[in-house]
Amino acid sequence: MQHTDVLDGRVDGEVARSCDVVIVGAGFAGMYMLYLARNMGLTAVVIESASGVGGTWFWNRYPGARCDVESMQYSYSFSEELQQEWHWTERYASQPEILAYANYVAKKFDLLPDIKFNTRVTRAAFQEEESRWLVSTDQGTQYQAKWCVMATGCLSAAQTPKIPGLDTFDGRIYHTGNWPHEAVSLSGKKVGVLGTGSSGIQVIPELAAQAKHLYVFQRTPNFSIPARNKPMDAEYENSWKRSYSERREKARSMPAGILCDLGDKSALAVPAEERVQEYQRRWAAGGTGFTAAFADLLKNAESNRTAAEFVRERIREVVKDPSVAELLTPVDHPIGAKRICADTRYFETFNRENVTLVDLRTNPISEVTPEGVAAGSDFYELDCLVLATGFDAMTGALSKIDIVGRQGLTLKEKWRDGPNTFLGLMSAGFPNLFIVTGPGSPSVLTNVIVAIEDNVQWIARCIAHLIEVDGRYIEATQSAEEQWMEQVRKVAEGTLYTQAKSWYLGVNIPGKPAVFMPYVGGLPTYQQICDEVAVDGYRGFSIGTQSPCVERRQVNA
Ligand code: FAD
Ligand code: NAP
Repeated sequence: MQHTDVLDGRVDGEVARSCDVVIVGAGFAGMYMLYLARNMGLTAVVIESASGVGGTWFWNRYPGARCDVESMQYSYSFSEELQQEWHWTERYASQPEILAYANYVAKKFDLLPDIKFNTRVTRAAFQEEESRWLVSTDQGTQYQAKWCVMATGCLSAAQTPKIPGLDTFDGRIYHTGNWPHEAVSLSGKKVGVLGTGSSGIQVIPELAAQAKHLYVFQRTPNFSIPARNKPMDAEYENSWKRSYSERREKARSMPAGILCDLGDKSALAVPAEERVQEYQRRWAAGGTGFTAAFADLLKNAESNRTAAEFVRERIREVVKDPSVAELLTPVDHPIGAKRICADTRYFETFNRENVTLVDLRTNPISEVTPEGVAAGSDFYELDCLVLATGFDAMTGALSKIDIVGRQGLTLKEKWRDGPNTFLGLMSAGFPNLFIVTGPGSPSVLTNVIVAIEDNVQWIARCIAHLIEVDGRYIEATQSAEEQWMEQVRKVAEGTLYTQAKSWYLGVNIPGKPAVFMPYVGGLPTYQQICDEVAVDGYRGFSIGTQSPCVERRQVNA
């Protein structure tokens, strides 16, 4: 295998390494982009701030972290050999196993020599004269490339809330999204955990099992379905492996790219008894497929209420103290409108004597002191604090990079009132800059690895087209982008998604504009549109055979 032998060139007096494609991020998106770029005979380099591959699964090492899409599906489909030889040990793979898989893929396809680890991209600027991106890093290195692919992840910018006194806390503070590599011992300790989203719901039972006492600081309760994780059943695994490609294809025809049992009726079209039986069946089977029980659960508020009420009843059944059960019962949003959680004995954890639920709605945190947390009129002495407080999702990682497009336009400025893209893949004003699973694509509403593979294949095909037509640049047109964002907004408004204060909407980040970011029209519809756009000669994009500024000069002459 031949690796990128980057040529050195001078840019503004600095030595910049030159290649065809610079890829930022070595999660599943960046790794696959590198694999495809190399297969196309392009020189490519991946720049990654972590010391290893895996992205999400490199960073989120908290106890209990695992996927909520079944392992047989939460994996790459591009290599039959890979999907046949890899063995998942559990229905839902744990973080260490997914990380081992990412490392296995990197080794199998010999990706490591082209990845620069421990290097953060700080700036990416489009050089108009040459139609090339100049990418700068915190290591003082620079890379110059025709194409730049942002594979920076939708959930990679961990969010630490601004709480008065947090930095004065004497104990250790851990963020689930940036968990230490070394073992964290919590035994005999008084532990606080802030946040009850998917990460909190996974970590809380594990912390409770170790800590002397666990205080769960909850602002908003969430819906969660038992995952019913179990060791991989050999026959089940074999059934997948016998027909992997057919099943992957079927999965791609499902709205979330997940092969599942998708109800096709309205929840209101069946008698109440039948409806409850269906919910019971799915509750017993476990997993996030619960919200696929009926076709209109995310569209019709009345239908949604039937599913939400079923889950609320289960919470009241499991949690022994009725006042604690009430606090854990979500009432402020439709079920599924925030990412549904999957758990292992989450609600049961609140029956433990060493667990206390602190309701921040009635007792907001006033400050953190060196000794602990003050909430309402109470003070909680703590040895350590776990922040399960989420991410600046979808735009956070991009906004941390100073991305400068044509004529000095910055992405931060352009996206001040919310992200604008065409198909989530490109943004007008930023030629030759691709985003994998960007805002305006289905991304986080899917089995993300499927969305990644589809986006990366589209980008590779687009680059191949540019090479074929001798295109210097490709850029989304303003009008295509406006129409697409209008479409993204419209489909979201036809659903219940917009009724939740979720990270999909950006409202978990103070000051972030409230714009619903993912495309909810489903993966098959989205993919069809992407394919049609490509077949139609990249309709909605302009392709130039000269650099944008040469074209501008010719127009002005
Ligand atoms: P990431 O894995 O986030 O990788 C992006 C990489 O880019 C990171 O390694 C980051 O360090 C790097 N990076 C970012 N900015 C820079 C920079 N400026 N310079 C250099 N490097 C940079 N999805 C599912 O479909 N199913 C699941 O069950 C599921 N579970 C999840 C559990 C957790 C705890 C989290 C946080 C997310 C989960 N997701 C899940 C979503 C998950 O993020 C995706 O499935 C997938 O792993 C994303 O891959 P990616 O390569 O796009 O991004
Ligand atoms: P999240 O869903 O955004 O949850 C963050 C939690 O922190 C919320 O409970 C939030 O409360 C709380 N919080 C944030 N700031 C706070 C503050 N200042 N004071 C009090 N509480 C505060 O983040 P996440 O749990 O990390 O999950 C993010 C996404 O990652 C998930 O939706 C999912 O897509 C993915 N994920 C998946 C899995 C999995 O099961 N495979 C596991 C983890 C993560 P409010 O709700 O009141 O804001």
